[in-house]
Formats: sequence, C-alpha cells, structure tokens
Amino acid sequence: MNRNVENIQISGIRRFYNRVSKVDGAISLTLGQPDFSVPKKIEESMIDAIKQGKTVYTPNAGILELRQAISEYLKTLHINYSDEEVCITIGGSEALFSIFTALINPGDKVLIPSPAYPAYESIVKILGGEVVNYSLNDDFTLNCCELDRLIKEHKIKFVVLSYPCNPTGAVLTKEDRDSLSKIVADNDITIITDEIYAALCYDEYYSIAQCDHLKEKIIYVSGFSKMFSMTGLRIGYFCAAEKYMKEIMKVHQYNVSCATSIVQWGVVTGLKECLADVEEMKGEFRKRRDYVYERLVSIGFEVVKPKGAFYIFPSIEKFNMSSEEFCLKVLNDKKVACVPGDAFGVKGEGFIRISYCYSIDELDRALSLIEEWVKGM
Ligand code: PMP
Repeated sequence: MNRNVENIQISGIRRFYNRVSKVDGAISLTLGQPDFSVPKKIEESMIDAIKQGKTVYTPNAGILELRQAISEYLKTLHINYSDEEVCITIGGSEALFSIFTALINPGDKVLIPSPAYPAYESIVKILGGEVVNYSLNDDFTLNCCELDRLIKEHKIKFVVLSYPCNPTGAVLTKEDRDSLSKIVADNDITIITDEIYAALCYDEYYSIAQCDHLKEKIIYVSGFSKMFSMTGLRIGYFCAAEKYMKEIMKVHQYNVSCATSIVQWGVVTGLKECLADVEEMKGEFRKRRDYVYERLVSIGFEVVKPKGAFYIFPSIEKFNMSSEEFCLKVLNDKKVACVPGDAFGVKGEGFIRISYCYSIDELDRALSLIEEWVKGM
C-alpha cells in the first residue's frame, strides 16, 4: 500500500453518517445534500441527450457549449474566464484532486484553513505535501494578518481558500477580498479557491477570482452539486490560466477523460433556463437558516449566523465534552445526528456541524429533541 494513503482516514463526515445509518429512526442533519429535486428542465435535457445519442466521450475539457455557458455565468459574478480557461470535471472533488496532483511536489507546503472541508488536507497528504493550518477569526472570517504571517514564516507555495464555507457558512467580505488581493500580489503563491457554494450566498458575493490582475495566481473551483441540487450526478469545474490548465488537463485526461456527457448537456440548460430555480432554493435555505439560528440561540448555544452555504456551526464548548462525545450522546439519547466538529480539522473541535438542507418540520423535530437533551443535562 501507499504509505501516504494508509496514513489518512476516511472522512469524519462519512464515518459519522455510517454510524447514524445503523440507528433506527434517527433524524440525520449530517449531509450536505439539498433536499430539492433537480430542476425539471435539467432532467428533461439529460433525457433528451440520451435519446439523441449524446452518450459518447466529450472533449477532455468538456463540451464547448457548457464551457461558454460557465464563462457567461461567471461574468454575472464579476469573474472573467474565457471558455478555454474552463475545464468540466467529475464534481468539485475531481477538480480539487486534479489540481493538487498537477501542482504539488513532495514536501511543498500548503496553507489550509481550519476548520474546513476535510478533502483538502487528505489530498495534500496523499500527494506527500505538507499541510500548514491557518486559523480564522472568531466569526470564521479570514484573518489576513495571520495568513500573511504564515505565508512568510513557512515559505508557503499554495493557499486554499474556502468561502462560502463548509462547515461554518462564513463568506469572504469585500474588505477581506481587498486585503487578500494585496497579500497575493506581494507573495509568490498560488491560491486555490473552492467556491462550490458561490450560488448560495445570502447577501453579497465576493471572490478573490474577481481580481483580474491576479489571474496568473488563482485557480477557481466550483460545481453544480449544490447549485442545482444534483450531488449524485457528479459535475463540477475549475477555471485557470493556461500555464495551470495545460498541466492539470493531463491529470484530468488520464484519470477520467471527461465528465459525463449527458450531465454536461443538462447543466447547459440549467445555466440558461434554471437560475430562477436556484434563487427559489436559496430563498428557502435563507428561511431555514434564520429558523435554525433563532432556535439554537434560544436553546442557549453560542453560534455565528451563517451568510452562505447551508451549514451552521454552533459551539459546544460549555458542555465540557469533545464534539464526538457530544454527537454520540445526542444520537444515542435522542436519535438526532449532527457531525462532530473535529471532522473538519483541529480547529473544528468544540463545535458541531448542523446541515439545514432539511424541511422546517424535520428541523423543528430535531431541534426540539436537542433542546430537551440540553435541558436534561
Ligand atoms: N468543496 C466543498 C467545500 C464541499 O463541501 C464539497 C462537497 N460537500 C465539495 C467541494 C465537493 O463537491 P462535489 O464533488 O459534489 O462537487
């Protein structure tokens, strides 16, 4: 076996989810999977693609129609990439894996936020890179001073940014984007910015990729799992300048050849005709965000109000137990499952992640049970 692979664990989110599936009748708030159906027009367009025989390999980078549609869509977010700077992947997951494989040499240091989506650390470790964590402000926003200090102190080559954030729901502010742009300009680093939740920002959306003058230093990762509620259809993309694209493309090509043809056609329709469905879904998530936040506050949790994605990350510090212990107790006593914060790295300890992509009814039942449990402590 490869020692780097042996030395990493399967994701703590999945580990806990597998445990939950063994508890009969448990309400699970663990998955990052919207509970909406894929928009009807996307569904129809995928069926049409099958009927029309669009079931053969596509170009490695994906069909031109989709790369053009993504380029147009990103312009509405003030991000400029041409269709040649877009590559369609098997979810954001494959984009991240291909990017890191193309970039990292053993021993290269990669700055990764903590808490964060667990894949970043694991991929870097598989490739023999060295992970250096950076901590965030108390409200999980970017701490630019800390970032700048670590980049210089550790001779960092790569920085992972992850906003809107899984697991905290924090977003990149305008001020942070502008401070960060100075740091990127002044240091010899590459930013990998994972913005898979960009379509689910409740207020304004800012991205480091909006800084055109830094394009040679930024790789933008996104996807449609969350935006179009199509997690199982496995489609995402990354955007990068040519110097990165030509190397990442080799990894992508030898690994997967291309993303699934019919899903690519579905997303072309999605970007042209289903953006209103995304707004509707976002409106629903906003209501749930407000509901869950208010309930958690009234139960007595210390919690930061999320500004994007569909997760909330309350502190459990005052309960004097580890996040794993907390989640196991609530699961065993009340049959409600949340993800222990330590699944998201060292700085996730002391928190739990609640996913609110469930109906208000289900959230109400789960939160009432958590409330009962807290009162019975
Ligand atoms: N990045 C983040 C922050 C995520 O939360 C996820 C999925 N939960 C991904 C990337 C990967 O998503 P997918 O492969 O479905 O596009």
